[in-house]
Amino acid sequence: MKRVIIIGGGVTGLGAAYKVRRAADAGHDVDFVLVEKDDRLGGKLATDYIDDPETGERYIVDGGSDAFITAKPAVHRVARQLGIFEDETPSCDENKKTLIVKGRRLIEMPDGIMMFAPTKILPMATTSLYSWPAKFRMALDILLPRKVRWASGETAQQHDETLESFVVRRMGRECLDRLAEPLVGGVHASDPAKMSLAATFPNLLEMEQKFGSLVLGFLDQRKMVEEQKRKHPPQPGKKRFTFFSSFFEGMQYFVDKLAEGSGRDRIRTGVGATAVEHAEDGTWRVTLTDGEVLTGDAVIVATEAWAGAKLVRGVDGHVADLLESIPFSSSATVPMAFRAEDCPFDTKFFGILCPLVEDRPVMAITMSSSKWPGRAPKGRVLLRGFVGGPRNQEIMRSSDDELIEIVRRQLVEMLGLKSDAKPLFARVFRWTLGMPQYTMGHLDRMDDLEASLSAIPGLAVAGGSYRGVGIPNCIDSGENGVRKLFGEWGIELAEDAVEEKRLY
Ligand SMILES: Cc1cc2nc3c(=O)[nH]c(=O)nc-3n(C[C@H](O)[C@H](O)[C@H](O)COP(=O)(O)OP(=O)(O)OC[C@H]3O[C@@H](n4cnc5c(N)ncnc54)[C@H](O)[C@@H]3O)c2cc1C
Repeated sequence: MKRVIIIGGGVTGLGAAYKVRRAADAGHDVDFVLVEKDDRLGGKLATDYIDDPETGERYIVDGGSDAFITAKPAVHRVARQLGIFEDETPSCDENKKTLIVKGRRLIEMPDGIMMFAPTKILPMATTSLYSWPAKFRMALDILLPRKVRWASGETAQQHDETLESFVVRRMGRECLDRLAEPLVGGVHASDPAKMSLAATFPNLLEMEQKFGSLVLGFLDQRKMVEEQKRKHPPQPGKKRFTFFSSFFEGMQYFVDKLAEGSGRDRIRTGVGATAVEHAEDGTWRVTLTDGEVLTGDAVIVATEAWAGAKLVRGVDGHVADLLESIPFSSSATVPMAFRAEDCPFDTKFFGILCPLVEDRPVMAITMSSSKWPGRAPKGRVLLRGFVGGPRNQEIMRSSDDELIEIVRRQLVEMLGLKSDAKPLFARVFRWTLGMPQYTMGHLDRMDDLEASLSAIPGLAVAGGSYRGVGIPNCIDSGENGVRKLFGEWGIELAEDAVEEKRLY
């Protein structure tokens, strides 16, 4: 029997646990134990179910991730394996509208924008989001030559560039400030001046190579998307395909089902790991906060990188240094609900982006009750403010009450929420050192990390800190950790061979 000790009960650790469980069910002599220091499983996936103080009806409030991208198959695949695919919900795309703050106005994102690149002339010509010089500067992208032509076999990693440098070079400063920073940088809560494009959106660098222009590249992509939509029109009675999905009951539902599917009896919460040791006889020992020492044949460290660094320092200083080299920023989400009569504005939109140049204390607002079905009772509006990020760490010193008031005031100023409107409830979810920053050179450091780990049999490191922060990336990362260990033990899983093919 090979026993894997998994440290960390976020979606990565649980994804790894479920993979070990599937291997055991398939007849392999493997088992796992998972330890999570918090009382709740899920890490950055956290849903609160809150009753309305007046009607008792329920709100579904996601405090961390509220969605996963559907183009990456891992969540769909695992949901199918768990038998909960039907519990996924598409977003309410009839309300799909993003507003961007400019001065005292909210401007709708022009139709045809893909990421930050325009692909339709008229909406771009008529939008007041950009000045005319900025519009001309963006159009210049079609004529500007590539920075360099990559030699054959070269990839984005060899030609890495920050988001800021790339967008300013191709489309000008205003495009960065008004859209690319809040939209693209915002996904990672990252500073565009430090964010590695190769590690986050390598497709942008590749597009420049292939098409010599982002506008032409995205036009090509738009054609493909439209073609696909024509081929697969929405079928009455069938679930729609949307860019992002969630679960009807919120993201915690996925976490709980993963835990059930993996085996609750093997999962311990409220107890953390304090050290990892590799004994001379090849066994692994994990010391816990309650003094117990777990022994096993392998360890998967599925914590945030900074937490993992402390655990593995005694095993390999270089691996610990690499984990420690990944910077993190802190942020908080502040969901709150209001009576519809306190919201005398059109609530049918997905969210508001607040560019840094606007110097507002919030990064973004999500209109949760319009984005997802069933999040708030009838006659109620559920919103969520997002604060913090690398350029506003100061705000994280504010108390919960202060953060709630900061977000509420922004809703008054930006949307026209009644100035005396009191939230029916408000919560603060703090994500201290919760968002890894993929800075320049991140991929080289990850290559170094993987090479170093390949020389340490029985140790794997997985999670959103390494090769993708999105939930599907995290599941892949946890499963890859298991694959590393199984590979070392000569265990081959039949499902590995077909996994990537049986999608949708
Ligand atoms: C506010 C916010 C919004 C986001 N929105 C989205 C989104 O909409 N879509 C999307 O795809 N991604 C989103 N992300 C990113 C995504 O949620 C994360 O990348 C992902 O959940 C990370 O999962 P993980 O399991 O790798 O790490 P975590 O969720 O951080 O889990 C690590 C776990 O390890 C535990 N741990 C740490 N140290 C120890 C120890 N010593 N012993 C035991 N346990 C320990 C922690 O308590 C934690 O539970 C968002 C992130 C944040 C912060």
